[in-house]
Order: sequence, then structure tokens, then C-alpha cells
Amino acid sequence: MRDGARNVIIVGSGPAGYTAGLYAARALLEPLMFAGYMSGGQLMLTSDVENFPGYPKGIGGPEMMVDMREQAERFGLEVHDKNVERLDLSERPFKVWVEGEEFRSESLIICTGAEAIWLGAKGEEDQKGRGISTCATCDGAFFRDEEIIVIGGGDSAMEEATFLTRFASKVTIIHRRDVFKASKVMIERAESHPKIEIKTFKQIKEWLSDENGLTGAILEDPRDGSEESIRCAGAFIAIGHKPITGFLEGQLETDEEGYLVHIENTMTAISGVFAAGDVVDKRYRQAITAAGMGCQAAIDAERWLEEQHQ
Ligand code: NDP
Repeated sequence: MRDGARNVIIVGSGPAGYTAGLYAARALLEPLMFAGYMSGGQLMLTSDVENFPGYPKGIGGPEMMVDMREQAERFGLEVHDKNVERLDLSERPFKVWVEGEEFRSESLIICTGAEAIWLGAKGEEDQKGRGISTCATCDGAFFRDEEIIVIGGGDSAMEEATFLTRFASKVTIIHRRDVFKASKVMIERAESHPKIEIKTFKQIKEWLSDENGLTGAILEDPRDGSEESIRCAGAFIAIGHKPITGFLEGQLETDEEGYLVHIENTMTAISGVFAAGDVVDKRYRQAITAAGMGCQAAIDAERWLEEQHQ
């Protein structure tokens, strides 16, 4: 630490942040993490993680995040469950504002991840957090014995649909094409489930509701514009995510989709600012790849800090 400035502040939690925290703590950098008010990231909203090596029986997403945090804290990671409001990256040490308080750090690791994208169809705003959700794990249980629809053709849509069969009387997956981004095993699991139906070449044109909540949707065929309606009490949008970078106010270079860009290894265009996980990665987006990148970012930050003091 120099003049009260930290060696490294990690912004955001999740597999990338906690792994960066673990490595930075074990490198005796005394890292400080702002984990966000909803710490743990997207895995807090996931049911079972079956593809993280080392868990032959799978593990619950929230449970894994609690374990990752505990492991990093054991080596001295200091975690505050608060959001970073603003950063000043114009000079070092960088400034970080949290609930009006200013913190300073020689280096930063940005691991703020990504958030769900909404469809933006007519009537959606009124039903957000009521009949329409982006998180089956959070809201699925509200729709016991009801008909539910899931929108999307990726792994998230397949996973959410399969999970929702625990509660729903029927789950219909609505996809805009007849080609799926989802992996074969996930599609097969959904297709073979007796409660799941898949409708292709359909998009949500408008949500339908009454005074009690969501009642259904008007579906449109993108090929010819023909319409049909579907009944549902709940709808889950699973059409992907966008990176969380608003607090950076454009100070770091992004690609055309808003993801942060690495210039050298995990370092961004600003020397001393590193980034890891879904805020950078639009290709792999896995817990294991985020954790790996968090490790890389901590090692890069450690080496960079050493170079500064030579
Ligand atoms: P994807 O980007 O893989 O899929 C998004 C889906 O939403 C696509 O089918 C896309 O359609 C559709 N879509 C996008 N925009 C719209 C729109 N405006 N209207 C209608 N449909 C739309 O995102 P996922 O969240 O499914 O997955 C992200 C990553 O996370 C992937 O790498 C995935 O493998 C991973 N993942 C892994 C899981 C696991 O292994 N257990 C579970 C969940 C996710 P189109 O195909 O036409 O573009």
C-alpha cells in the first residue's frame, strides 16, 4: 500500500472476482473487493452447476459462490457487499467511489459480469418481476401447476425450461429460428421431457395480461408475420446477457457489443486496470473460464505491480 492506496481493488464478485481475490490474497497484495449489493453474480441465480470440474455430483450455484468467497477470505480477501458507483481512471492511484466514500488503488481488476437482456415487447414493463422474469431459479416456484413459456434457443433457455418442469403443468419453449445455439445434451433433455413443447419460428409480439397478471402472449412467425396466441401465467426470457460496464462511464475501451477489451494479456487499454470474466468474455461465458481468467488477471496484476516498484 502507498499513501493509503490499496495494491488492488477488485470490482465485482462471481467466479472471476473470487478467484482473482484468492490469488491476489495469496500473493499478499491485501486485496479489497467490492462485491456488489447482490454479491456472487449470476451463479447466485443458478440451480445446479454440473460442469465445474471437481464436483462429480454437481453443486448448487449459490453454494459454490459461498465456498469461493470463504476460500478467498481465508487468505485475507477483504469483501464489502457494496456497489462501486464511479471510478476515475485518469491517473494513478485510481479512485473508486463507494456510497460516497473515496478509495484509491494502484491497480484494479474489473469482474462485474453480465446481466440478463429483456425482450422489450409490448406490455413487458408492466409485467416485469410479476409474470415475466429472467430468472427461473428465483421465480419458478410462483407458477406451480401453471403453464409457462420460456423464450430463447440457447443453453439458458433449455436449462430454465427443464428446471421449470418441477413446478409448471406445461412449459413451452419459444424460439425465433429452428436452429438452436444450445448444446445437444441440453436440447435432448428438454425435447424428451413430457412436460416440454418446443415452438420454432415464433417471436413474442405482445404480452397479454389482466388485473391478476400475465395471461399469455401473441406470437408472430418471423417468416410471414402470421400470428397466434399462447396462454401462460409465467414467462421466462432467456435470450442472453449484456456486460455490466455502466459505472465505467466509457473510460475503458469496449467492443461493439459493450464488452471490455484486453490489450495485453488481461490488461485493458489503461495500464494497471485488468478485467476478467463475463464482462470481457462473450464467447465462453462459463464459471470455469471466468474463474480461470480471474486467476490470470490476479497474476497479471501482481507482475505489473512488481514492475512498477522496480
Ligand atoms: P445464447 O447467446 O447462447 O443464446 C441466446 C438465445 O436467445 C439464442 O437462441 C438467440 O436466438 C435468442 N435470442 C437472442 N435475442 C433474441 C430476441 N431479441 N428475440 C428472441 N430470441 C432471441 O445465450 P444463453 O444465455 O443461452 O447462454 C450463454 C452462455 O452460457 C453460452 O455459452 C451457454 O453455453 C452458457 N450456458 C451454459 C449452461 C450450462 O452448461 N449448464 C447453462 C446456461 C448457459 P438466435 O439463436 O436466433 O440468435
